[in-house]
Amino acid sequence: MSDSDALSLSLADPGSVVGTLRETGRLPFARWCPSPNFGPRPEDAAISLLVVHNISLPPGQFGGPEIENFFCNCLDHSAHPYFESIAGVQVSAHLLIRRDGSVVQFVSLLDRAWHAGRSSFGGREECNDFSIGIELEGADDVPYSSDQYLQLASISDLIMHAWPDITAGRITGHCDIAPGRKTDPGPAFDWAHFRNVLNRTRSAREGV
Ligand SMILES: [Zn+2]
Repeated sequence: MSDSDALSLSLADPGSVVGTLRETGRLPFARWCPSPNFGPRPEDAAISLLVVHNISLPPGQFGGPEIENFFCNCLDHSAHPYFESIAGVQVSAHLLIRRDGSVVQFVSLLDRAWHAGRSSFGGREECNDFSIGIELEGADDVPYSSDQYLQLASISDLIMHAWPDITAGRITGHCDIAPGRKTDPGPAFDWAHFRNVLNRTRSAREGV
């Protein structure tokens, strides 16, 4: 097994993580960085969709604290011309997967994060009501890291166990639920590769 394969399988007890997810909405191995930008899900909105995004601040630059500051409404908007253009915007995602595969959580998966905006999937609007939003630190035209694919597959598998309404066909991109308005995760995101890694992760954890 390569080091990278080990990353996706490194959970000592995936079953306990699934239980924690269902009860608390929190990923135990994510760094908790709570955002004020969330609310309750509508009572009739079962969690049934996973939306993949990308973000980088400033666009195309990786590694700084700006994404976390942005989602927590404490970005210094005078620090960069681009930041001025997003002043006053209040958004969030449930999770962020950084370039090295490390994970930051902003909103409990049980709550409604503000990641999708105007959107629809399968004829149903307001995807924030019933989806989980995962940001990849990245840009539309920059290849994602192998650690990001592995971590996204690992987390997707856990989420699919916790909320079985999220089938493989209900993992989608922001560009697909808000066409013409959003382009992320962009052409750099290799869906075929991701689905292969996800299938391998699911096989390896069969029976969890
Ligand atoms: Zn997005």
